[in-house]
Amino acid sequence: MKKSRSENRSTEKSGINAPPEGTFDRRATELTDLLGACRELSDILNPQELYAAFAGILRDKFGVLKLGLFVYDQQYAAFELVFSHGLGKLNYKFKSDEEDLWRTLLKGTPFAVVDRYGEPLFPSFLEKQDLKVLPSELWIPLVMRGEVIGILTMGTKAGRQPFDDFDLYFLQQIGAQAAVSINTCRLYERRRKEKEDLDKTLQNLSLLYDIGKAMNFISDLKKLLQFILNQAIDITSAEKGSIMLYDPEADRLNIRVLAGLKDTDYQEKVNSNEIECRSFRPGEGIAGQVFLSGNPMIVNNIREDEVFIDSETSFVRSIACIPMVVYSDVIGVINVTNKKGVQGFSDEDVKMLKAVADQAAVAINKAQLWDLAVTDSLTGLYVRRYFMVKLQEEIHRADRYNKIFSVIMVDLDRFKNINDTYGHDAGDRALKAISQFLQKNIRDVDAIARYGGEEFVMLIPDADKDAALCLAERLRDGLSRTRVGELPQITISLGVASYPADGTDIEELIKKADAAMYAAKQAGRNKAVKYSEDIKLTREYSCPPQESRVVL
Ligand code: GH3
Ligand code: MG
Ligand code: MG
Repeated sequence: MKKSRSENRSTEKSGINAPPEGTFDRRATELTDLLGACRELSDILNPQELYAAFAGILRDKFGVLKLGLFVYDQQYAAFELVFSHGLGKLNYKFKSDEEDLWRTLLKGTPFAVVDRYGEPLFPSFLEKQDLKVLPSELWIPLVMRGEVIGILTMGTKAGRQPFDDFDLYFLQQIGAQAAVSINTCRLYERRRKEKEDLDKTLQNLSLLYDIGKAMNFISDLKKLLQFILNQAIDITSAEKGSIMLYDPEADRLNIRVLAGLKDTDYQEKVNSNEIECRSFRPGEGIAGQVFLSGNPMIVNNIREDEVFIDSETSFVRSIACIPMVVYSDVIGVINVTNKKGVQGFSDEDVKMLKAVADQAAVAINKAQLWDLAVTDSLTGLYVRRYFMVKLQEEIHRADRYNKIFSVIMVDLDRFKNINDTYGHDAGDRALKAISQFLQKNIRDVDAIARYGGEEFVMLIPDADKDAALCLAERLRDGLSRTRVGELPQITISLGVASYPADGTDIEELIKKADAAMYAAKQAGRNKAVKYSEDIKLTREYSCPPQESRVVL
């Protein structure tokens, strides 16, 4: 019956033997050398350093010009050349077998592979394994607890002296010490790698936790998408990326945010909905395929991939595309592009992205539903109901921190004429463009809503009446110098009221801002007016009904 691989490699000899007979001085010298050498090897934890130190000891002691060190690699069940000296560049691996030489080797004793005339003693083996390139005189198995864990091959000794019994004794003993040290190094390396992997996993987990936590606090869809995309780019060390969301009505995947583009102007325009990017049909391009299959995809050599839809300006080398899934529905994909450094995206990157995408999908879904509830579909601004909630919150904030704020009412001038002359669709397009103009020209902390048909209302925190009037005037002036498509000049009238100077509840504030706006109309339109005591509150001007308390 054949022996198992590890039994085959076991040796009958182990442990420290007594040195051979000889003069007291020689024995003492040999033992001192051996002790010193063993000490030197026992402290080293880095494999390459260890191999070099081991080779150094042998070179110093025997003056050998050529040597090679093989270490057993369990994964490939083969001996691999890990260090050589005087052999040129070699990349070498050989498997053990059942032949005579192997049985000899497994006894753990150093032995010659050439006779004293330099003729090979095991020609067929050396030939078969292609080992003749190693002009070795001796093979020394490195044995630990009965296991041959490595083999040292040695060329001729300095002055071509034969190796004597003391030499063989030294080699066998230092071989045993080297075996222990190699094993320790490997264990240490494995532990270090395991620890590194564990640290990485922990770091990733805490990162995912932080991302998940942050997502819960962002209810604005655009900001949420931007946050998710930036995290995805960061954790994969990508250059840039995009998030596409599926629009079921159009049956298209639309790019909703971009990040990392060199053309920041274009990126800004896409992110603020000023221009629309190319959209994808399900199944079209990498994103379309990922959307349909629900499986992530990595393409690291984009030029060879036919699925990728090339664009002259995209400069894409590598891409990882991850689906975002909610209740088994794919709602969109995250794309990250051009991994920094030489390597492409890895399975580890996909694992991390998948974890982000799973959390992102739920948060995006929630934000989309929220968005639907609080956003006006034509203009993309807040609906009046939600604005009133924000206004009430602002009153609480102002009371708590002793702050002020202002409200601005806006109404388009003679807008009925536009509809009557150019049609309702042209009117809608104008409403949308003017909404975007207003939105773009206020701060992030300000809020704007569509109050009614062609009326808007703004909340300007930390602004007194004059500061808000200044803003209102800037908006009026800006719009009066902007044209919407082919339509004639459209202007606005604005009215400003402030908290707490003009009122301490939302009804009063809105009423006074509205009265000021009406005064602007009366004064000839295309004007901004701040509320003052002499402005009449009774208005004949049509105004959508106001709700006294709003609960969403
Ligand atoms: P002014 O405000 O200067 O007194 O004149 P106006 O013509 O703008 O009058 P008002 O503010 O009362 O505007 C009401 C008109 O706005 C009626 C309608 O033609 C138009 N309008 C309201 N909502 C919409 C909408 O959603 N789309 C379009 N296209 N037009 C709308
Ligand atoms: Mg009007
Ligand atoms: Mg109106």
